[in-house]
Amino acid sequence: MEYVIFDLEWDNVFYKKEKRFINQILQIGAVKLDGDFNITESFTATIRSAISKRVTGRFATLTGITTEKMLKGIPFEDAVRAFNKFSSNADVTMTWSDSDLYTIVENEKLLKDGLSFNMNRYLDLQKLVQAKMREKGYENQNQVSLEVAAEFFGISLDDFSMHTALDDSTVCGKLLGICYNENVFNSLVKDAKDPEFSRRLHFKSYSITDINDKALDKTKFCFKCPKCGAKLNRFSKWKYSNRWFSSTFRCPKCNDKYIARVFAKMTFEGVTYKQRLSKIEKKETENEVQSVPETV
Ligand SMILES: [Zn+2]
Repeated sequence: MEYVIFDLEWDNVFYKKEKRFINQILQIGAVKLDGDFNITESFTATIRSAISKRVTGRFATLTGITTEKMLKGIPFEDAVRAFNKFSSNADVTMTWSDSDLYTIVENEKLLKDGLSFNMNRYLDLQKLVQAKMREKGYENQNQVSLEVAAEFFGISLDDFSMHTALDDSTVCGKLLGICYNENVFNSLVKDAKDPEFSRRLHFKSYSITDINDKALDKTKFCFKCPKCGAKLNRFSKWKYSNRWFSSTFRCPKCNDKYIARVFAKMTFEGVTYKQRLSKIEKKETENEVQSVPETV
């Protein structure tokens, strides 16, 4: 078995061609591990931007990659080719959370000749580590940062510069050794050559703005009284503002009034929802309720 864990550092820069900001990859770092999780080789490449002449101050502070260092870097294509060569024999390639994969998709347009990062099989290491943390009693369900995970497993970060691609990858390598569980690992590995893997990454999710959209599940727009459990009656039209639908409801038994909010997003897997229900205090009239500003 051979594993490769890589990490990317990117800077948010203005891309003139598309008149918008993009997360441009400026560093690739990676480690190679054998079947016993020993680090056998490392890789690092700093990239000279083809679209901007400087890095942002925030990026330089975070990563240590100053404008001067960036300008001494290599072209993006050379860095990707070198990384692909480094990782060509990897059975499984990993990153900490899949956000690096989405950044790769965003950067593909900057690469000539349809070049991209090669992977055979992929695993999101964050998921594997979080599974182990939960097993050990960690209860927070939010995504954990690499620092929090390292601290949880007693990895000292004194010798590492976090947010440099190679050091982050090295810390990931240590976590892999600690958290490896064959069953969990196999259940999380994805075939990166499967067209669905790519379709998922390229899918652009969007919020649904039309209450009559056929994709919406009407039951997500029904609410029960938190006090007595009765089905609430809606007494105003659904309005859409700032990514949320909102309307007012009344409990037929308690007579309490509520504002209900629903957020609906179309993703690769289908529509996902968020629902909020907040009680309207008695002193407010319905008119005042209608003018309550939306908060997300
Ligand atoms: Zn009620």
